[in-house]
Amino acid sequence: MAKQRGNPGAHPSTAVLTRGFDPRLSVGSARPAVFRSSTYVFPTPEAAERAFDLVSGRQTVEPGEVPDLIYSRFNHPNAEILEDQIIPLEEGSEWAVVFNSGMAAIMTSLMALLRPGDCLLYTVPLYGGTQNLIHDLLEPFGIQCRAVVAGHGPDLDEAIRNTPNLRVILIETPANPTMVMTDIKRACILAGGLDPKPVVIVDNTFLGPAFQHPITLGADLVLYSATKYLGGFSDLLAGVALGTDPEIQKKIRGKRGLFGNILQPDECWILDGRLPTVSLRMNRQSKNAQRIAESLAHRKEIRKVYYPTLFDDTEQIKIRLSQCDYPGAMIALDLNGGKTAAFEFLRHLELAHNAVSLGGMETLVCHPGSTTHSGCSEEEQRIAGITGGLVRISIGLEDWRDLLRDFEQALDHIAATVLT
Ligand SMILES: *Cc1c(COP(=O)(O)O)cnc(C)c1O
Repeated sequence: MAKQRGNPGAHPSTAVLTRGFDPRLSVGSARPAVFRSSTYVFPTPEAAERAFDLVSGRQTVEPGEVPDLIYSRFNHPNAEILEDQIIPLEEGSEWAVVFNSGMAAIMTSLMALLRPGDCLLYTVPLYGGTQNLIHDLLEPFGIQCRAVVAGHGPDLDEAIRNTPNLRVILIETPANPTMVMTDIKRACILAGGLDPKPVVIVDNTFLGPAFQHPITLGADLVLYSATKYLGGFSDLLAGVALGTDPEIQKKIRGKRGLFGNILQPDECWILDGRLPTVSLRMNRQSKNAQRIAESLAHRKEIRKVYYPTLFDDTEQIKIRLSQCDYPGAMIALDLNGGKTAAFEFLRHLELAHNAVSLGGMETLVCHPGSTTHSGCSEEEQRIAGITGGLVRISIGLEDWRDLLRDFEQALDHIAATVLT
């Protein structure tokens, strides 16, 4: 399926529509067919033998050779098409591996790269599922896991220099829900000075692939919950790992084949159709969010608006300017009046939905303290900046003026009831 058409140096918005899919392999159809088969027919027994030698890694692909498909837990045409078409969206990446959720991408990558006795360094706050994965799976398996609070560059420097058996550094930036950022390049430079060099992984779900490009900053592996901006319509679960080192790809593919968590053909096909509009959607969502965040900043019902263009810490401003093209579409509001005010705000929204998740074309608002981050200890909540009054907003594609009016009328309710 990996037949190349067009100019190999094409820009991402062209490449996403022209590479990786050969209509001749889908009876001339302009969009890919869905190949639901679980197994594939070999032309000869020798071809079957060769296909197994290749998938097991006993032999390597010859130049120009197109490996035969075997069985859909290892690979299938819709995964191949999706993987080929997603690569140009992630600047600097040379391969992609797709999974049936973001958690599957994170779990499989970490299980492929870590052994008992190895150390994983990770920034906090971290997505709740990833935090649980560390505590409930990796630590009981004998992997040493060390947390570093994001937003304090020198602490991460110290941890990278002084952690024995450091094999993986996992960075989530910006961090959920207050958008605190970690300097990817600085971590990669320090990691590059170690022998053996730890693998630097960036969970790029919040700003990628449109606005933040970790591989160009030195990261080895970029992970996504494609459930969010890549999928964009809040109607599928998916995950992606992208990188450059063929050895890392081989390890991750091997584990995906064992775990059986490849993205299914129908979901691959749906996600594939969303790729050409990711950048359009993210740009509009970011513009909407910036206008709304900056318009709300002066409201007396709000103690603080968390949004990248409103950062006040000099180190955070420097990181934002050096590693993010645009501020993105996630906003957090710390409301005066605590949990009561936050719940009244949610109750009075007329356009925005009260739901977790993010990145969809519809605006979603949640109360992290009682939902996404309810499993965190008080100390973890304090570090993450989660107060009773904090609400997190994922801005969608609606007209920003309507959304602003919706937030303003909900704030008016708080002013009239909770804060009087
Ligand atoms: C949602 C999310 C995940 C998990 O992805 P799923 O697709 O829900 O499995 C991981 N990291 C971040 C930053 C997320 O927002």
